[in-house]
Amino acid sequence: MARLIDGKQLSAQVLVEVATEVQQLKAEHGITPALAVVLVGDDPASQVYVRNKVLRAEEAGIRSIEHRLEADTDQQTLNAVVDQLNKDPEVHGILVQLPLPKQLDEAQIIAAINPAKDVDGFHPLSVGALASGQPSLVPCTPLGCMIMLQQIHNDLSGKHAVVIGRSNIVGKPMAALLLQANCTVTTVHSHTQNIEALCRQADIVVAAVGRPELVKADWIKTGATVIDVGINAVEVDGRRKLVGDVDFASVEPVAEAITPVPGGVGPMTIACLMKNTLTAARAQLASVASKDIESNPEPTAAV
Ligand code: NAD
Repeated sequence: MARLIDGKQLSAQVLVEVATEVQQLKAEHGITPALAVVLVGDDPASQVYVRNKVLRAEEAGIRSIEHRLEADTDQQTLNAVVDQLNKDPEVHGILVQLPLPKQLDEAQIIAAINPAKDVDGFHPLSVGALASGQPSLVPCTPLGCMIMLQQIHNDLSGKHAVVIGRSNIVGKPMAALLLQANCTVTTVHSHTQNIEALCRQADIVVAAVGRPELVKADWIKTGATVIDVGINAVEVDGRRKLVGDVDFASVEPVAEAITPVPGGVGPMTIACLMKNTLTAARAQLASVASKDIESNPEPTAAV
C-alpha cells in the first residue's frame, strides 16, 4: 500500500510554523503581516476560495483585507484598487482572485501588482526570477507540492520527474522548481505523444491537467511518487464528488506514495499562500531597514 501524503495534516503543520514566525515578527518588529484579497464578481467557487484564504490567514495570525468589487468593474477601477494596495506599507501581500470577469485583462492586472507583494508568484518578474534560479515568491500550488515531495524524498537530485500540464500557475513553475532541486524534468501536455510511456519512466509524477482520473495504474512505475493537483467535480450515482487527475483506486497500489483528492494539494496551496505572505512581509521589512541605513547612515562606532 502506498504511503498517503496527507495534505490536511501537513498544511496544518505549515500553518503552525507560519503562525509562530508571525508572532515573532509582531513581538520583535511590531509588524503584523497583512494579505489583501481582491475578488471581482460573484463566482461561487472563487467566493469559497476567498473565504478559505481569509480563515487560514486568521489561523496564522495574518491580517486579511478583503476588497469585493462588482462583476462589471472596469480595468481602471481595478487598477486603482491594486495601486492603492501597492502603496500601502501595511499591506504585504496582494492576491487578485482569478479568473476575472471577461472585460478585465488578467495579464495586465498581474503585471500591475508590486512584485514585492506578489504572493501568488504570477508577476512576470517573479516568473523570470524563478526561471533564472533567483530568490522569488513562488506560486503556492507548486510550492505546496515541493513540500509534499520533501516528505518522501530527502534528496530529489537525479530523480526523473514528469509534470503533466504546462499552465503558468502549476505546470511550468512546478517544472522549474523540480529542475532547481536537480531533478531531470519532462513536461508533457495535450500535444505530447506517448504520454503513458513517458510517465512510466518517472520516479515522480505531478498531474496538473484538469481531466478526472486521467492517470491510470499502467502509467505509473512501481514505487513512484504521485502528486495529484487536479480538482474535478464529477457526478457519481447522482451525487457530486471531487476527484483528482489520477485514478486513485488503481494507482495507489502501484505507487510508493500518493496524495489524495480532496485533502491533498488543495490545503497545501492555501498554507503556502500564508507562507508567502510571511516571506513577503519579512522581505519588505529587510528592504525598509536597508533603505533607512542608506538614507541615514549611523556614524561608525569607535570600538
Ligand atoms: P489548465 O487548464 O490551465 O492547464 C491544463 C494543462 O493540462 C494544459 O497545459 C494542457 O496542455 C494539459 N492537458 C490537457 N489535457 C491533457 C491531456 N489529455 N493529456 C495531457 N495534458 C493535458 O489547468 P491548471 O490551472 O494547471 O489546473 C490543472 C488542474 O489542477 C485543474 O483540475 C485545477 O482545478 C487543479 N488545480 C488545483 C489546485 C490546488 O490547489 N489543488 C491549484 C490550481 C489548479
